[in-house]
Amino acid sequence: MQTPKILIIGGGYGGLKAALGLQRKLKTPASITLISKHDYHYQTTLLHKVSIGTLSARKARIYYRKILNPKKIHFIKDKILKILPNENKVLGNGGEYSYDYLIIGLGFKPDSFGIKGVEEHTFKLSSLNASLKLSKNIENKFKEFVHTKNPQDLHTIICGTGFTGIEFAAELATQISELSLICGIDKNIPKITCIGRSKHILPVFDQKLAKVAQDKLQKLGVEIICEGNIKEIQKNKVLLEKDGKELEICGNTIIWSAGVKGSDIVEKSEIPNKKGRIPVNSQLQCESFPNIYAVGDCALATSKDVIHAPTAQLAAQMGDYIADLFVAKLSNEPFKKDFKFHHRGTVCSIGHTDGVGVVYGKKLKGEMAAFMKNTIENKWLFSIGGFEMVFKKGQFRYRTSN
Ligand SMILES: Cc1cc2nc3c(=O)[nH]c(=O)nc-3n(C[C@H](O)[C@H](O)[C@H](O)COP(=O)(O)OP(=O)(O)OC[C@H]3O[C@@H](n4cnc5c(N)ncnc54)[C@H](O)[C@@H]3O)c2cc1C
Repeated sequence: MQTPKILIIGGGYGGLKAALGLQRKLKTPASITLISKHDYHYQTTLLHKVSIGTLSARKARIYYRKILNPKKIHFIKDKILKILPNENKVLGNGGEYSYDYLIIGLGFKPDSFGIKGVEEHTFKLSSLNASLKLSKNIENKFKEFVHTKNPQDLHTIICGTGFTGIEFAAELATQISELSLICGIDKNIPKITCIGRSKHILPVFDQKLAKVAQDKLQKLGVEIICEGNIKEIQKNKVLLEKDGKELEICGNTIIWSAGVKGSDIVEKSEIPNKKGRIPVNSQLQCESFPNIYAVGDCALATSKDVIHAPTAQLAAQMGDYIADLFVAKLSNEPFKKDFKFHHRGTVCSIGHTDGVGVVYGKKLKGEMAAFMKNTIENKWLFSIGGFEMVFKKGQFRYRTSN
């Protein structure tokens, strides 16, 4: 009998967890390959820190070859360009790869919702490289201010008041004094504006907890505009409608964090999908192509008709589940268990030592929330590389990578 070929594409929370689970648990022969577009995994949940420069790129990179056993998982660095589900193949820059089973974990893409100018005129926190580009831009704007003297260079506009936008705004706000001091700028000149469509920031939380976060941000000097409907982005300008009035907000750094969709590679494929997310059954399987499974932001998973919001927590649990499913499948053992998401909690950081969140149903704020946030990040590191990884790459009360 031929050895089954399992191909995992995308080494994020979902894909990497599936690969590591198989590496650890699979005892039957199988050819398992993980393809991802970089040599390293990065914690997407920390990209706001990379964008401000409070987490170095070196610390953010976790090299696959250091955590994968080549005798069990073959790693290939390649960018996937196309999925051909009818031919059981995917195409990458480096060639074509065939499979018996495909696990898709290609992650997310920012969703512009068709708003004009988003693609051309905004920065996104969509990958480590995109975050490094934003970090360089902020650093340059501060450094060059002594020559340009243009206050708009120090006005950062964030479109989106969800998790990504708020964590980024807070991280920047807590660094303004330091950046201003280093560059010899009056710390009252830099400005941060956050624009969101919802009634209050962080709609995943109730109004009371969101208000706690909003007060903290305002104390840090962040201007917040809720119920603002962004109509267009122009170069250094956001056009929006609020309370029936048209507004124009000018600033020379604009960040788009108003929403995400699934991978564009999935979106353009013949696999049935909704904006790059594959509707999967209770075993994370694509019904039209039963040898294809999806994990993380590429999967549209529901339980009791509730669509799960795409999070790293969900992606990692899906990766674990898929590994267990394949261990049973390849050993010809029955696997009846359905995927069930265990929502343990959500914490939004407000800078490095503050935050708000709900963990196991308990509301947290301040240092305790920041502590929980670091614990969540470190738990992920532990799950992929044990204590050694936590000590090398972990998040602690005192920064080691500022
Ligand atoms: C700034 C920010 C903060 C966040 N904070 C939180 C949080 O606090 N808690 C939480 O639960 N969630 C958070 N999220 C959401 C979370 O990061 C995502 O839900 C999670 O990363 C999804 O995991 P994934 O495995 O589906 O995709 P990803 O982690 O995005 O991984 C996708 C992988 O696929 C690779 N890839 C993509 N395209 C290709 C291609 N064409 N070819 C080859 N490889 C490819 C990528 O390089 C990457 O390695 C945050 C997101 C952002 C942006």
